[in-house]
Amino acid sequence: MDNNHDSNYLLTSEFFLYPQKMHVIAKLTETSIIITRKNGKPESQVEVINLKDVTGCHVSEGNCSTPAKWHLCVFVYPLKKKLLKGQIRQRISRSLGAGGSKTEEENKLTTTTWKRAIKHLITGRCVNHAEVNNLPDLECRNLVVYINPFSGQGKAMQIYKKHVKKMFAEAEIKHTVVKTEYAGHARHLARDLNLASCDGIVIVSGDGLIHEVVNGLMDRNDWKIAIQTPIGIVPGGSGNALAAAIVYASTGCHPAPTLVISSIFEICRAKVAPLDILSVETPDKTAENQVQRTYSILGFVIGLISDIDIESENIRWMGGELRSTIFGVLRILSKRQYTVDISFDPVDKVLDVTKEGIETQPSQDKQLENKLLTNFSSPVSGRWKSTCGSCVQVSALNISHIANGIMMHKDSKLSDGKIHLTQLKSSMTRFKLMKLWDFMESGIGISTDTREPIDTTVTQCNAFRLIPSANHSQIMTLDGERIDYGAIQCQIHQGLGRVFMSGCS
Ligand code: ADP
Ligand code: MG
Repeated sequence: MDNNHDSNYLLTSEFFLYPQKMHVIAKLTETSIIITRKNGKPESQVEVINLKDVTGCHVSEGNCSTPAKWHLCVFVYPLKKKLLKGQIRQRISRSLGAGGSKTEEENKLTTTTWKRAIKHLITGRCVNHAEVNNLPDLECRNLVVYINPFSGQGKAMQIYKKHVKKMFAEAEIKHTVVKTEYAGHARHLARDLNLASCDGIVIVSGDGLIHEVVNGLMDRNDWKIAIQTPIGIVPGGSGNALAAAIVYASTGCHPAPTLVISSIFEICRAKVAPLDILSVETPDKTAENQVQRTYSILGFVIGLISDIDIESENIRWMGGELRSTIFGVLRILSKRQYTVDISFDPVDKVLDVTKEGIETQPSQDKQLENKLLTNFSSPVSGRWKSTCGSCVQVSALNISHIANGIMMHKDSKLSDGKIHLTQLKSSMTRFKLMKLWDFMESGIGISTDTREPIDTTVTQCNAFRLIPSANHSQIMTLDGERIDYGAIQCQIHQGLGRVFMSGCS
């Protein structure tokens, strides 16, 4: 091993670099691989690989056409600025052939030592000089992958085969694939999943399948532990709001032109971030004064966007973004109005309701402590505020995006414990609606700067109740899927769930 004990670097070795084909010296720090030319002159820098961009590395045996027998192959997905496209994640790989030692055994040892050190560092482990040459191999992660063959344009399986499989192999992620066979299947799968043998659930679909998985985990007796199972999202649906929100939270990219690659990257890096989850109640039609409860990751919409989502179902083949743009323009031109009564509990301090609830409640009981919701027949708490009137849209969202490419709340974080409750009033002209749509697509979203204060209200709340007018039966959606028209109430639970996200501490 040619490690030269330079205390600034964890490892220093001589390699033959591909595809550049040059002799180099590589140095490993806690955050990067610094590659410099080996040519006798003062060393010149060839490349710095940021470990934040690395998903994995392999040791492989070269063939007779390569000067070195043992290679360290590093897989890197840096964000690159592209004209008109913003930032995109692009794959590069670097092969480092070890040839600096006298024997092939030693060269092999050099590559495996580097591999182990890189794998430790990219998964957030500390590596110090004393142990860097004696690190153990890390166990491969085991994930289960649910694929909805009918989501979006029906390309989820293709996305898996073309991208997920390859990137998971590079990151040495073991996984089991399950293709969903019917609506509701993923809920059953998540409910019955053996969590002991699984480090996370990956969903290749849209927000509807994530909704199913979250509800399946919450159906379980061990829901407190089960709901903490990290979830990874690969956008294979039409809207893909959570996938867009995770990549935005991690990288600040909107829109993300390579959302599939960026999303798989977030999973490969193995870091986990908390995610707020909403509990949603609707009156139980079969039992008076009882409620039905479900859990939501994206949130609730009545009006413009839920109409677009559901009414554009029969042009699903067109793809999510085009579909929503065409129907967006059509729906704005034929502006509809909805009469609603809304009460909400405004945020003055974020209530960490779930954590307390989880710690103090028996596992079967999901009546979380600090429950803010009362029966529909009872009035809401006195501290709540109320408003009523005619709207073009009311949304109550948990995350920044409502679909990939459509930003609602730029300041919304994945676990800020806040519902963003937005009302677009009927007084809003078609022109103003178009302008707002443009703000949403360009990533500005609905902020205090862009909204029309007379026509738009954005309130951050812990909980809300919405009673729609009894005269109509219009479209309401939860997580992009249609729900029965009628009263609904909802409360946020901060950090109840977890998602794979690389850009977190
Ligand atoms: P999209 O964004 O295209 O709507 P979703 O992930 O939201 O994609 O999925 C849409 C719906 O498809 C979900 O409500 C889910 O229950 C349903 N679903 C899942 N698997 C199947 C299947 N095999 N056949 C029919 N429907 C399915
Ligand atoms: Mg859907």
